[in-house]
Amino acid sequence: MTSLLPALHETSDRTDSPEAVRFGEHTLTYAELAGASAALAARIAGAGRVAVWATPTAGTVVAVVAALRAGVPAVPLNPRTGERELAHILADSSPSLVLAGAGEELPAASAGVERLDVDTAAREWDTGFAEPPAESPALVVYTSGTTGPPKGAVLPRRAITASLDALQDAWRWTGDDVLVHALPLFHVHGLVLGILGPLRRGGSVRHLGRFSPEGVARELLSGGTMLFGVPTMYHRLAGALDGPDGAGELRKALAGARLLVSGSAALPVHDHERIAAATGRRVVERYGMTETLMNTGVRADGVPRAGTVGPPLAGVELRLVEEDGTVLEGAGALGEIQVRGPNLFTGYLNRPDATAAAFTEDGFFRTGDMATLDPDGYVRIVGRKATDLIKSGGYKIGAGEIENALLEHPGVREAAVTGEPDPDLGERIVAWVVPADAGSPPGERELADHVAGLLAPHKRPRAVRLLDALPRNDLGKIMKRALGV
Ligand code: ATP
Ligand code: MG
Repeated sequence: MTSLLPALHETSDRTDSPEAVRFGEHTLTYAELAGASAALAARIAGAGRVAVWATPTAGTVVAVVAALRAGVPAVPLNPRTGERELAHILADSSPSLVLAGAGEELPAASAGVERLDVDTAAREWDTGFAEPPAESPALVVYTSGTTGPPKGAVLPRRAITASLDALQDAWRWTGDDVLVHALPLFHVHGLVLGILGPLRRGGSVRHLGRFSPEGVARELLSGGTMLFGVPTMYHRLAGALDGPDGAGELRKALAGARLLVSGSAALPVHDHERIAAATGRRVVERYGMTETLMNTGVRADGVPRAGTVGPPLAGVELRLVEEDGTVLEGAGALGEIQVRGPNLFTGYLNRPDATAAAFTEDGFFRTGDMATLDPDGYVRIVGRKATDLIKSGGYKIGAGEIENALLEHPGVREAAVTGEPDPDLGERIVAWVVPADAGSPPGERELADHVAGLLAPHKRPRAVRLLDALPRNDLGKIMKRALGV
């Protein structure tokens, strides 16, 4: 059985063991991680499922690694989740234990589940764990809840190793890489890619705790080679590059990084171009989901282009399909992305109907994301079928394209586009805009003309609504449900 984290075993008895993770002042070498996780694994072995209070701390890494070693499925919990959603996730996943740091205060919703302090669990060494079977569930990760209540995706070890190895291939990811990380640890981006990715390669992670452009610059200039971020982080980096203070350091840091990677949502074209203009570096986009881990990604030796997420990763079959099931051929045609490969989950926890509905007869997963292909096979995501595709006046219009056009207007800081029922058009385009200057926001007519002039008359927003901020979740994803979609 191939190991999920081979570096943990290779280095566990070395005294000169390399650093595995760093959270601020707190570091763990591979030997320390091996020891602490083995002790905890011995304690939790045999549990049905364990929840992990996933703060951005070394304790969370120890807890998840311990669960992986014990073969006990781990359910990472967002520590900022509200009582109702937390109660839903705990009832749905029914863990026998919650693993949390000694100092953490857990909310009332978790009162019914026994708590185990990660830091104080027994510390005897025991490395005698057999690798659990490849198809056994390793993690149950809840989806972001962007389109409905979060669903628990059951991820077998096989999916994790397959996806991480496909990224190794795409990005020439090695044990020499030092990842700069500032993402939460309860989604696949921050946990599977950001923690298990480096650990599987024998490399190291430096977690900033809280994202800041200064922190990113500092870590990239002191040994960091890669940055994984979400679009809101790149937006802030683009803004900081414009600023007078520290822009020089940040520019140097980003220009010198081996790989700048964005995912979890579309990176606005405007921010991609601003970073490219300031640093000479283009951010690499990859596309994935909780259910599928990673599907596509621009390769390290590929050519990143704004608005594309690259070709399918090794082992991933990807096709675009029309509503009637016809598989599309060639570039330019719009269809739903369907994927098949060893990176896929096994199903949603407690939701056989949703699981059955998510797969086609021939085993492809229906992503719900709409895309076209560029002539070179790069995937261009247009948006989600449910919330980002506006059917107006006989056209199918992608919200993202209009959002990108709005963001090019100097008076616009953030933008989201939705469709609303309209008696004549079927749906009409509504633009939600956070103005750059709340004191003098751009006029409705001006913005509508700007979009129509850049794109096409039928893509003109019919209403512009000003907001102080867009509703976003912990990964910075725009929650269009909160905008009435
Ligand atoms: P839920 O499934 O609960 O509604 P969610 O789909 O946001 O929430 P995730 O699994 O975290 O939950 O997110 C996957 C989705 O994120 C994809 O289906 C896609 O819409 C979007 N996404 C991820 N990466 C990218 C990217 N690089 N570009 C555009 N969209 C992306
Ligand atoms: Mg989803």
